[in-house]
Amino acid sequence: MSVYSFSQIQTYLQCPLKYKFRYIDKIVPEFEENLHLILWTEIHSALEWLYNEINNFKIPTYNELEKKFVFNFSKKAEEINDENKEDFLTRWKNYLKNFYKKHYPFKDIKVIWTEIQLYIDLWNWVKFQWFIDRLDKKWEDFVLTDYKTNKNLPPEDKTMYEEQLTLYALWVKQKYWKYFKKVFWNLEYLHFDLQDFWEINKDNIERVKAKYQNITKEIENKKVEYNLWSEDAFVLKENYNCKFCDYKEICPLFKHFYSDVENFELPDSVIRQLVDKYVELNNKKKEIDNELKQIKTTLEKVVKKTKLKKLVWKKHTISISKLIYYKILDKHNLKKYLDNKWFLEEVLDIDKTKLKKLIEDKKLLIGDWLIEINESFVLRWK
Ligand code: SF4
Repeated sequence: MSVYSFSQIQTYLQCPLKYKFRYIDKIVPEFEENLHLILWTEIHSALEWLYNEINNFKIPTYNELEKKFVFNFSKKAEEINDENKEDFLTRWKNYLKNFYKKHYPFKDIKVIWTEIQLYIDLWNWVKFQWFIDRLDKKWEDFVLTDYKTNKNLPPEDKTMYEEQLTLYALWVKQKYWKYFKKVFWNLEYLHFDLQDFWEINKDNIERVKAKYQNITKEIENKKVEYNLWSEDAFVLKENYNCKFCDYKEICPLFKHFYSDVENFELPDSVIRQLVDKYVELNNKKKEIDNELKQIKTTLEKVVKKTKLKKLVWKKHTISISKLIYYKILDKHNLKKYLDNKWFLEEVLDIDKTKLKKLIEDKKLLIGDWLIEINESFVLRWK
């Protein structure tokens, strides 16, 4: 069985190589415990306790809730030296109080689950996994609740976010199909004392499911490719988040910033010198090319005007000949015309870029007696 989470899929879409480092090579970045992390855990655990008590027909007072939160937070944060610790706690006690006041006396809901790990069947052996803070039944409807402790409100473009929520609705549908009518999403932004509540569009469920089936199928294929024959199955994708990536020290794009080239016939210091030399020479070449272009334009003007075929000075002579270019205006009719005249085969060429794409997309398998694959490298610089 393969199990995917939303963040795994996001990582893959952002950069397949990062996905490989994190989920196949299992290189887990080290996290340093900090106040935000502790707060996230302890707010969730205090609210889990609150709603479990409510489910047992006991409504804790706000003081009881605060005591629980403060005790656990302080215990966990004991080791952390941060001068803002007390202010941080006071602020979050206020946010918790606002939340409590807003929902008190917690009527009209039946809590089904708190802090539940859910699995959605995507296809065959592939499942999607996530944690939900709370699932309630409110009259005929289901309500999925998520507590948000960060300072970000959802961005205007909520597409990815809504897809995630739609997948959770799929879980409700798979688990409670007998009672499945409407599913609502309830986001509690504790920091802003805001509640974002809306109905999840059931019509999107199959579309989003199909999309995530396709993405996970692609990842499963890459895993097979990687295990069987290709080290390069997961290619790197440079993106905006590279600067925050935990794998920069091992990523081929950034590795040389952190470590030397080893086991090569030249020492690293020489390779670094070559980098500078290559760029400097190319810059010089660019300057020369520009100068050449200007001279050529001037000489062309002279030739056009004078009809001379050679220009001379002390050391050198330049011969001039004319090149003619054809621009095709109507490809379709030109092809027809050439076909009528039996010349089509002679002028037709195979589009190598399109052929390369067909091979790379694995739509075409061509034997090595028909084509030879060679490698070359493009060097760019800043
Ligand atoms: S640094 Fe960028 S390209 Fe390299 S693994 Fe991370 S996200 Fe991918």
